[in-house]
Amino acid sequence: VKTSAEYIESLRSRNIELWLDGDRIENPVDHPLIRPSIESVAMTYDLAHQPDTHALATAHSELTGGRVNRFTHLFTGADDLVDKIKLQRILGRATGTCFQRCVGMDALNALFIATWEAGPENHARFVRWLTKVQQADEMICGAMTDAKGNRRKRAAEQPDAFLRIVERREDGIVIRGAKLHQTGGANAHQILVLPGGTYREGEEDFVLAAAIPADAPGVIMLLGRQPSDLRKGTPDAGNSTYGGQEVTVWFENVFVPYENVFLDGQIGPATTMLTAFAGYHRASYGGCKPGNFDVLTGAVAQLAEDSGIIKHAAVRDKLVEMTHLTETIHGVGLAASHKSTQHGSGIWQVDPMLANVCKQNVTRLPYEITRLAEDLAGGLVATLPGLESFDHPKLGPIMKNITGGRRRASLLRLVEYMTYGAGSVPLRIECMHGAGSPQAQRIVIERTADWAGRMASARNLAGLEDTASVQAAK
Ligand code: SF4
Ligand code: FE
Repeated sequence: VKTSAEYIESLRSRNIELWLDGDRIENPVDHPLIRPSIESVAMTYDLAHQPDTHALATAHSELTGGRVNRFTHLFTGADDLVDKIKLQRILGRATGTCFQRCVGMDALNALFIATWEAGPENHARFVRWLTKVQQADEMICGAMTDAKGNRRKRAAEQPDAFLRIVERREDGIVIRGAKLHQTGGANAHQILVLPGGTYREGEEDFVLAAAIPADAPGVIMLLGRQPSDLRKGTPDAGNSTYGGQEVTVWFENVFVPYENVFLDGQIGPATTMLTAFAGYHRASYGGCKPGNFDVLTGAVAQLAEDSGIIKHAAVRDKLVEMTHLTETIHGVGLAASHKSTQHGSGIWQVDPMLANVCKQNVTRLPYEITRLAEDLAGGLVATLPGLESFDHPKLGPIMKNITGGRRRASLLRLVEYMTYGAGSVPLRIECMHGAGSPQAQRIVIERTADWAGRMASARNLAGLEDTASVQAAK
């Protein structure tokens, strides 16, 4: 199990092609816009070595026969899924942002299931790859979302809007296309590309799951910009150490040897993978987001305490509401994990209804939580002058008078960062669209709900049918 220092060092040997606007970033590890996101991932390595979190952040692997980092681990019991949520909450609280390693974890579990369904050869290949990932304790970027283009057209009509196989050679395949919104892509050792949608017969070239080194020739990454990202590394960063990261990845005719190709045209297993991944990742937000909201609630509570208003009933009520909403998200994420069931492959899967309800809440409740935070923080959160001014001989005393001191100013910056600054990418828009936009969850909720049973129960209690027919309907 790697340490955080070993993880950061291991990133230096990669030669990734990463662009910030029109400039190639030669040294991403020390770049001020990238480093905070690396520090967030590094926390997932750190917790594996801290005595109080070691048991939670690592697990016994049947593949390696030893302990591995939980982020490379298979869900071999319901407790693994519950522990994942608990660990994510701790990490969300420790970093205040996205630590980027869950997509890979959720994806490798979904792919374990899918390759098991695809057949022994696919499965054996995947297990060999995963064993090496666990041994090297690699950071895996799970890459799912295609550009998709015009939604009325099929993939074949606009092939470059989808990642696909463009050539089959004796020793491997050549792939081309884009994957969007890749969380932590530039901080990963490998990219695990997966089909981002369901495909029909005749569209097999788009049904592709494969692992590609982040620095493979032809892998081109474009760094996603965030609000006020140029403040990173300055006193106005808000979050002084950590950050999230999203990149767009373009695969320009990238060669992948067959040993790293796990699905190649198997439409049924690919659909299984999609559903399994969606469930896992929709429950995951019940871990990380509550941890982030602990920080936001803590920031406005601290501000209220420092300014002497924390005893006011209206303030306390708003803090209680923020907490209530946060725990509501967490509770459903935990419940989805507790109520999990075992797939034929041996892997455990979350309860699909509760996982989707969890994510549906995440598309809504965070907006109310951030609204309350902005309410409690007051207008200075938006009009605060730069914190450098504190060190200026003339402006320093003025700054102290208008803010009450650097402590309050720093807390206000943190609130700004999380609600509409760089940190709002994972905390606002990702809550809406990450792991699928709201309508995607409503489709699963409708499909999963036991409508016939519910109607039969109602008919029975209305005196319309006997209990036996209710039992039959179940
Ligand atoms: Fe993990 Fe949350 Fe980031 Fe997704 S958004 S990778 S679940 S921290
Ligand atoms: Fe996400």
